This record gives sequence, C-alpha cells and structure tokens, in this order.
Amino acid sequence: MFQLILLAAIIYLLYRWLRQETPRPRGGNPPPPPATGPFNRSAGPIEEMRQDPVCGTWVPVSQAVTLKRDRETLFFCSPECRDKFQAGPPNG
Ligand SMILES: [Zn+2]
Repeated sequence: MFQLILLAAIIYLLYRWLRQETPRPRGGNPPPPPATGPFNRSAGPIEEMRQDPVCGTWVPVSQAVTLKRDRETLFFCSPECRDKFQAGPPNG
C-alpha cells in the first residue's frame, strides 16, 4: 500500500517536472538579421561613360578616377592621367 502512495508521489513529481520542462519564452534572443548584405547591385546594365581628357579613353563612371575641379567633375582612366592633368596641359 505504501508503494502505491510512493508511486503516486513519483508520478506527481514527474508531472510537475514535465510541466516545468515545457519551453519557456526566452528573453534576449534577437530575430535573425534581414537578408540585406553589403552587396548593393543598384547599378543598371547601362554604365555611364566619360572620356579621359588626357588620353581620350572612355571609362565607366563607376571605375573612373575622378577629379573635382571648380564646379565640374573630371573623369580619368587612371591616377596617372589625373596627375598629368593636374600637372598642367601640355604646351601645343
Ligand atoms: Zn587616361
């Protein structure tokens, strides 16, 4: 008879234990970050081209070396051409 009471107590404790083991809402669990990464492919398929005033090469604006002069922005194919332009136009 005592074993039945002990068994009931064990079942009761087990029931209580199982109730406590139910998943609780845990704080401090941030949602996953949005799917936006450092990649930003907003450039369209048509790239704006500018002509290098030093060597005459057409370069895409996104890859050109820029030089702000007065109120206009000049585009060069390379820093060398920009330096040539800054050094001064050739005589002739
Ligand atoms: Zn150039």
